[in-house]
Amino acid sequence: MRLAITGGCGFIGSAACRAAVDARGWSVLNIDALAYAGRRENVAMLEGRPGYTFLHADIADRARVEDALAAFQPDAILHLAAETHVDRSIDAADAFVRTNIVGAHALLEAARSVWRAMPHERRARFRFVHVSTDEVFGALGPEGRFTETSPYRPRSPYAASKAASDHLARAWRETYGLPVIVSNCTNNYGPYQFPEKLIPLSILNALEGKPIAIYGDGGHSRDWLHVDDHVAGLFAILERGAVGETYLFGGGDERTSLEVAHAICAILDAEQPRRAPHADLITLAPDRPGHDRRYAADSAKARAALEWAPQQRFEDGLRETVRWYIANEAWWRPIREGLYAGRRLGAGAAQT
Ligand code: NAD
Repeated sequence: MRLAITGGCGFIGSAACRAAVDARGWSVLNIDALAYAGRRENVAMLEGRPGYTFLHADIADRARVEDALAAFQPDAILHLAAETHVDRSIDAADAFVRTNIVGAHALLEAARSVWRAMPHERRARFRFVHVSTDEVFGALGPEGRFTETSPYRPRSPYAASKAASDHLARAWRETYGLPVIVSNCTNNYGPYQFPEKLIPLSILNALEGKPIAIYGDGGHSRDWLHVDDHVAGLFAILERGAVGETYLFGGGDERTSLEVAHAICAILDAEQPRRAPHADLITLAPDRPGHDRRYAADSAKARAALEWAPQQRFEDGLRETVRWYIANEAWWRPIREGLYAGRRLGAGAAQT
C-alpha cells in the first residue's frame, strides 16, 4: 500500500502514520502544513525510515500537492488535515473555512487530476478516504444515536466547515467518479493529542495543580473512542470499504465531561498522589456558546461491513493516556510554555 496521509503530524494523523509504517509496512507520504497542532515530534520516530516521506505543504496549495501526489502515485489518500478545535472556531472561523473547505476542495482537485492520469487498473483500486466527525449531525437528545443517514445539522463553525467538506467529498464521487469514502467518528482520545482538548488539558492542569475547568453543568456527553481504534477503522475502510459509502465509528463509551474529569482525577490519585484529591481542582466554567449536549454514534454498519470493533475500553485507554502524559513531559512542556498554556478559548460570544 502506498498511502498519502494529510495532517499526519496531528493527533490522529500521526497515529495513522506510525501504524501504517510500523505495523503494516506501508509506504507513507505525510503532507502537513505544521499548523499549531501539527508536531513533527509526533512522527520523529519515522524520520529517515525507508517508506516514510514528509512533505511540509498546505493542502490549499493545489499545485504543490498535485506534484507530490503525481510523483508518489498513492493507492489511497487518507485526508485528516484540518483545523479541529471547536473553541478556536468560535473565536475566529477563518482558518477553518480556509483549510477545512477551501483546502479540502484543492486536495480533491489534486487527487482527481492524479487519479485520472492513472492506468485503468490503478484507477479502479484508488481510494480517497475523507475523515470527518459526528459533530456534523448536531446535538442529540438524551436518547438515540447518530447513524449514516442522520441529517446534517452542524451548529459550531468547526462542525459547519467539516460538513461542507463532507458534501464536497461526496459531490466529487457523484460528479467526477472519484472513489470517495466518508467516515464520521466520535471524540477520540489517546497519546499525542494537543493539550487544548478536554482530556489532555484536564490531565495537564491536574498535574500542575491548576483548576480543571468544565463547561456549563458538566453534563455534556460524548461517545469516546481510542485513537488507535479509530485508525484501525480507517485502515479497515482502506482495505474493505465500499466506494461511495459512509461509515460511522464510535466507542459506545458515553461519558459526561464531569465523569471524564473525575475519572482522570481518580487515575491521578493512584498514579501521582497529592495531599488533597485531584477532584478538588474541578470547577464549573461558563458554558461554550451553542454547546451540543450529546453526541453518540451507532457503528453497527462499520462493525458488520468492515469487521471492525473497538479494542480499548474507556477506563483502560484513559489510564494508559494519563500515564503517557505523565511520562512525556518533554513533549507537552514546550507546548504549555510556548504555544498554548491552557487559557480559556471560545467564550467570546458568551461574554458579549
Ligand atoms: P489535529 O488538530 O491534532 O491535527 C490536524 C493536523 O492537520 C495538524 O498536523 C495540522 O498541522 C494539519 N493541518 C492543518 N491545516 C493544514 C493545512 N492547511 N494543510 C496541511 N495540513 C494542515 O486534528 P486531529 O484531532 O488529529 O483530527 C484529524 C482529523 O480527524 C480532522 O479532520 C478532524 O476533523 C477529524 N476528527 C477528529 C476527531 C477527534 O476527536 N480528534 C474526531 C472525529 C474526526
